[in-house]
Amino acid sequence: MKIVTIVGRPNVGKSLLFNRICSKDISLVYDSAGVTRDRIISFVKKGQRELMLIDTGGMSFDFHSPLDKSIHDQINGAINEAYIVLFVVDGRVGLHPLDKEIAKFLKEKNKFVFLVVNKIDQPEMEQFCAEFAQLGIEEIFPVSAAHNLGIQELVEKIFSRL
Ligand code: GDP
Ligand code: MG
Repeated sequence: MKIVTIVGRPNVGKSLLFNRICSKDISLVYDSAGVTRDRIISFVKKGQRELMLIDTGGMSFDFHSPLDKSIHDQINGAINEAYIVLFVVDGRVGLHPLDKEIAKFLKEKNKFVFLVVNKIDQPEMEQFCAEFAQLGIEEIFPVSAAHNLGIQELVEKIFSRL
């Protein structure tokens, strides 16, 4: 079974996206950053096809504790196992330095990467996606996990690529 791993810096909406894609409320969604410590896994079915979806904690490259390092290792493992990586960024905050670091990290992995620009809560906000083009990822999906916008298109694209 192919694995799809959701990554991104803290608080961009990875867990809410995870919940939307599997339409279940099993991942922790909180207002504070870095809440999801453990990997969370769900199976998503569409017709005869099935994939394994993995949510991860917020990605970081500066380690202040053994826990930070262990979270990083866990995310790295989930990326290595992935067939497709959903790299989530925050369309309201805009391009963040950590997004660039993550993009660079993913490039070295040679995986299919879909750039998911979350928090595009209104169609007018799609212009906020433009600056993320400099991350050099071809496939960009504007979505709103909170308002369930663009999720169906994303899921269809994922399944069409498996
Ligand atoms: P994670 O740390 O990346 O897993 O992010 P969470 O899923 O826990 O969400 C972090 C915060 O962003 C929460 O307060 C969510 O309600 C909020 N959030 C997530 N998706 C959206 C969205 O599409 N639009 C808006 N406006 N807020 C969102
Ligand atoms: Mg989370």
